[in-house]
Amino acid sequence: EVYLDNSATTRVRKEVIEKMVEVLENEYGNPSSLHLKGYQAEKLMKEARENVAKLINGDIEGIVFTSGGTESNNLALIGVAESLRKKGNHIISSAIEHPSVLNVLKYLEENGFEVTYLTVDKTGKVDVKDLKRAITDKTILISIMAVNNEIGTIEPIEEIGEIAKERGIIFHVDATQAVGKINIDVKKQNLDMISLSSHKIHGPKGVGALYIDKSVKIRPIIFGGGQEKNLRSGTENMPGIVGFGVASKLAKENFHGNVSKLMTLKKRLYQGIVSEIKDVHLNGPNVEEGAPHILNISFAGVRGEVLLHALEEKGIYVSTGSACSSKKKGQSHVLKAIGLKEDLIESAIRFSIGIFNTEEEIDYTISVLEEKVNFLRKYKRR
Ligand code: PLP
Repeated sequence: EVYLDNSATTRVRKEVIEKMVEVLENEYGNPSSLHLKGYQAEKLMKEARENVAKLINGDIEGIVFTSGGTESNNLALIGVAESLRKKGNHIISSAIEHPSVLNVLKYLEENGFEVTYLTVDKTGKVDVKDLKRAITDKTILISIMAVNNEIGTIEPIEEIGEIAKERGIIFHVDATQAVGKINIDVKKQNLDMISLSSHKIHGPKGVGALYIDKSVKIRPIIFGGGQEKNLRSGTENMPGIVGFGVASKLAKENFHGNVSKLMTLKKRLYQGIVSEIKDVHLNGPNVEEGAPHILNISFAGVRGEVLLHALEEKGIYVSTGSACSSKKKGQSHVLKAIGLKEDLIESAIRFSIGIFNTEEEIDYTISVLEEKVNFLRKYKRR
């Protein structure tokens, strides 16, 4: 098996599983309980909180555990919009955000908010000048992703952070695809809120966090017993949170080694593809400028979905567009936004590399790709 769909989700690390099993078996206490069993659970949660906070250079108190990137994006956008409604109703975002941002913005638009969607260039980057021009005295929130999940574009979040700070506007970043892959530092980059997801960094699914700077006024979207400083009620997902903590710790410790490994494998894959196969088109930023784990390529004349299943026959797993939207009908909004022609959108494949991949797997993938692409092109002509 060659798993090249690490932007969709990643394999859970052994160290994470071991700690989670220990929690499931022994540390079943409720962190809200007043007795020792509750105290022990709370201690474990605190350790996880510290590890997640360290990964992004944030304050421990800023971490609110959620059910994942989707919920974090919902809480950030709805929570701030509702809390600042009196101050203004204008939000700035981009055309290439994840559906868990775009669909929340649609909901907010139906409820009296106005949203400016910044366009992107052919590499997927927003223009900071456009952003400056879009700001009005009604602007309360800017939400721009750090790394695009389909094409790997790295957005200029540090520059945007500075502008937002100057103008007193809250800046939210969906960093789901960014942590562990590019440097994320909420202090240095002036990020007021960032969304994180555990299962993209070899932790379990169904858990994530929203980091919230203490200056941000935000309301909850889930009401109940007041856990997580009243921002996310409900008994905490202890095994998930603890697993996320271990995954964060390992992501931080191995950051430089992981990034250089991912980039080396990505370059090897790209160079192999362009030297062995004709009529290929790189979608998104140049290989060295994009995130180290995402490579999006169109193989002209071959339908992405057909190629995906042809690769699957040989044990290679990839995506067309993004995994989250590829089961749905309709073309990738990201590939449309970068101006890709329809036939090239239809033939796009996203390879997303992970730390468990090897050079041998990359070389095998290149040779299978060559065989399958050539076969499908010939078959089409007949
Ligand atoms: N944001 C981005 C950029 C993503 O790639 C994903 C993953 O699908 C999400 C948000 C949603 O995260 P989760 O699956 O944890 O809800």
